[in-house]
Amino acid sequence: MGARAVKLTPKVFVDFDGTITKHDVGNAFFRKFGDEAKLLAAIDRWKAGELSGSGLLLVEASTAVVTEAEAVKFIEGFEIDVSFKDFLGFCRSSGIELSILSDGLAFYIERILSVNGIEGVPFYSNRSQFIDGGIKIEFPYESDCTKCANCKGYQVLTHTGADEVIVYIGNGYSDRCAVQYADSIFAKDDLLRYCEENGVTYFPYDSFQDVLAKFRKILERGKLRKRHRAELKRREAYISE
Ligand SMILES: [Mg+2]
Repeated sequence: MGARAVKLTPKVFVDFDGTITKHDVGNAFFRKFGDEAKLLAAIDRWKAGELSGSGLLLVEASTAVVTEAEAVKFIEGFEIDVSFKDFLGFCRSSGIELSILSDGLAFYIERILSVNGIEGVPFYSNRSQFIDGGIKIEFPYESDCTKCANCKGYQVLTHTGADEVIVYIGNGYSDRCAVQYADSIFAKDDLLRYCEENGVTYFPYDSFQDVLAKFRKILERGKLRKRHRAELKRREAYISE
């Protein structure tokens, strides 16, 4: 008797800054309200692995002078890739779950989605409070990762099961932990370069219009499948838990 065929379901995870939005909101926010020189030095140390993801956010926040009203006014000016709405609509009408994973902050994700008429999308990010003319960061999702405050690799593993195919869409350094476990990867900018340099298979894209066209084609042709290297990585991660 042959093995029973298991129906694979896609589960989609999307980065926020620079992927749903056209620019990196978190970065621009801290550049605007924080100390830019300290910020750039901290980012370099983070990229070199000398500073953890939460350490970087704490440095950024420690230099910020901003009220909630100023923050909200600033971030509302950031545009999204409007074709994200089409992609989300396609996923919803196809019964495919989509979540946003971000190493940024909830206040601007919530606000920007709502300003653009996007409701009900689950997201996992760091959180913050505006207190005494500054911003205090909270980390609701702790993991063993030293690179990230809210590790997207940890989130992907936490939110998927054995019958699911992980689809990941991102653009930056904070997506690295997630793509090692992802089966279908859509990459641009720094993430695309990372995938190139590390021999990770990916689809390049510019906008969600490209992602939608490709994703639709993959589903129509029954080409949704697990990536062997990602499966091995997931197995390794489960064993080491
Ligand atoms: Mg990003």
